[in-house]
Amino acid sequence: MDIKRKIVPAGLKNNPNKPLKSIDYITIHTTGNTAPNATAKMHADHQFGGSGEREASWHYTVDKGEIWQSFEDNQMCWHVGNGDGNSRSIGIEICDNDKSKFVQACDNAAQLTAQLLKKYNLPIENVKQHNYWSGKDCPKEIRAGNWGVTWSGFLQKVRSYMDEINNKPSDWCREEWETGVKLGIIADDNPRGSLTKEQIVAMIIKAKRAIL
Ligand SMILES: [Zn+2]
Repeated sequence: MDIKRKIVPAGLKNNPNKPLKSIDYITIHTTGNTAPNATAKMHADHQFGGSGEREASWHYTVDKGEIWQSFEDNQMCWHVGNGDGNSRSIGIEICDNDKSKFVQACDNAAQLTAQLLKKYNLPIENVKQHNYWSGKDCPKEIRAGNWGVTWSGFLQKVRSYMDEINNKPSDWCREEWETGVKLGIIADDNPRGSLTKEQIVAMIIKAKRAIL
């Protein structure tokens, strides 16, 4: 997905104006704003205007159709109420303004999370809930699992996007892929690539030989 940008200027009350100590974690939130117009764009505009002079800020806001970036990845934000979390993690807010499309919003956030893990070479264990840092019940709907997405389901989506980025076989086909490689039907690379007609014929013949 495209990432739209509206980077918060220096000098506003919501901008700590200092770099992260290091990029070690991705922290997941939900906005807690269920008003229908509380979209990613609205939150981006709100942050751009200084978050109502509150010391509250985060890097990305994601809804069912858009991702907005408000701070550069290497800039500190105030989103977890904990110095360690604020100085070492990138904050992603998922909009809960549209319950019927919350699964899609989480899917978009999972895709963004996978891209960031890849970019900064972080393991999936370093994706944390806001709750991990301060005990706050956030991301509330995911923690409760009552809007169609559980925490383990969210992490599973992140994993599957990482597999896609790393060009690994999908979960649904992993066993078949490994069997095909073992039987010599296909080389163990580029599982998500496409085939030419001659490669398809060669595979069929090789499969026939391998199985007979
Ligand atoms: Zn939160």
